Amino acid sequence: MKVFSVIGLSKSGKTTTIENIIKELRRRNYTVGSVKEIHFEKFKMDVEGTNTYRHKAAGSQLVTARGIYETDLLFQRKLSMNEILSFYNHDFVVLEGVRDTCAPKIVTAHDIEGILEKLDGTTFAISGQISNSLTEYNGLPVINSLREIEKLVDLIEEKVFDRLPDMKDDCCKKCGYTCRELSSMILKGQAERRDCVLTENSVTLKINGQEIVMNQFVQNILKNAVEAIAKELDGYRENGDIEVCIKR
Ligand code: SF4
Repeated sequence: MKVFSVIGLSKSGKTTTIENIIKELRRRNYTVGSVKEIHFEKFKMDVEGTNTYRHKAAGSQLVTARGIYETDLLFQRKLSMNEILSFYNHDFVVLEGVRDTCAPKIVTAHDIEGILEKLDGTTFAISGQISNSLTEYNGLPVINSLREIEKLVDLIEEKVFDRLPDMKDDCCKKCGYTCRELSSMILKGQAERRDCVLTENSVTLKINGQEIVMNQFVQNILKNAVEAIAKELDGYRENGDIEVCIKR
């Protein structure tokens, strides 16, 4: 699953850029999901007086509103980005306004100050209002999402890689870098996605089809335990993939 973020100051053209990107990715037959970060402290989808609000007020920790055309899950806390992404299984997921991720980024801005405020090593393109007056900034392409959406999505296809574990700056560093540093190096062509050591030992755990993110320690425990049991059984093959499914 490939994940990238579009960040920028208010009214810099973030949502328009994302709308155009989603339409073009869908036109190219990719499956697409999106996440919108809301920075208002008082934000709530549910309003006082609704039945779901009453469930929450009574103490329900996870409330589901099941409609005819839509289902909303209302968690009573802020989920981490890894928890949120565990609900997605799309070719691309676009994050709007999400800063705490090492995912590749498109910065939208009105002016140079707006770029400088958001720019970091994980930026691979610039868009938004400033693309009306600039085509390049400091080696990065500045692309207008209305006039040049194909060029922008070509770049997304070229640059965005399968998401890293994204455990912020206190990550395992087994590749010799933080996730953010490795992400920046991949975008500059100085490293490859497979340099993430966790990928090499890939052990996946899914619950109801949703992948659960595991750190290296947990992956090793699971791998060693399952291999130790499987080795004792008839039919065991040394180099075959192992799949275990627990029905509950
Ligand atoms: S090995 Fe992977 S998870 Fe660990 S720091 Fe490097 S990129 Fe991040």
